[in-house]
Amino acid sequence: MPQDRSVKTPRAGSRRKSATAGDVPGTPFWKELALADMSQAQWESLCDGCARCCLNKLEDWDTGQIHWTEVACHLLDDSTCHCADYPNRSVRVPDCVPLTPKNVTELTWLPPTCGYKLVADGRDLYWWHPLVSGDPDTVHYAGISVRGRTISENDVTVEAYEDHLVDWPGEDPADLIELAERGKATALKKTGG
Ligand code: SF4
Ligand code: SF4
Repeated sequence: MPQDRSVKTPRAGSRRKSATAGDVPGTPFWKELALADMSQAQWESLCDGCARCCLNKLEDWDTGQIHWTEVACHLLDDSTCHCADYPNRSVRVPDCVPLTPKNVTELTWLPPTCGYKLVADGRDLYWWHPLVSGDPDTVHYAGISVRGRTISENDVTVEAYEDHLVDWPGEDPADLIELAERGKATALKKTGG
């Protein structure tokens, strides 16, 4: 069973910016550049806006295993998946640590869908990522974001986190092709694609 230790996790960026081309025409910058070589705008745009990293987690002190909860940081806007005070997040939430090219390779609790984690692992971004789809809402249509399915940490004690454990933030969509395709179909229907 998880121990009653809450681990608040960092969020790298809720601001999505347009992708910029890499040096090789037709090659997306995230396939061409190392994380450390990306511009600030390119780095920020790797965030798909899912807000899974703004969920609180429990860590089993014996095994180190992470257990996800539906309990979100009090600064998370559940309806948009944006941080309510992104520029001051590290001051207002001291255990919200900004992601860096170095720590994305070290943190064990980033969700498998995280754009930073995927690129750091040499994988491509999924179809719902705004850089691929061109639409910031596809992350929501695909069922990847936390939109509409969190409760605020203001409304639940840490002792009660075990009553709010959820599996979906840790699921790898590579194992959920059917789900991903279903979400894609819904997204295309909504966007007229
Ligand atoms: S998990 Fe990764 S992609 Fe999702 S909001 Fe956090 S930093 Fe962005
Ligand atoms: S401070 Fe903002 S970015 Fe950090 S965990 Fe909370 S909502 Fe997410």
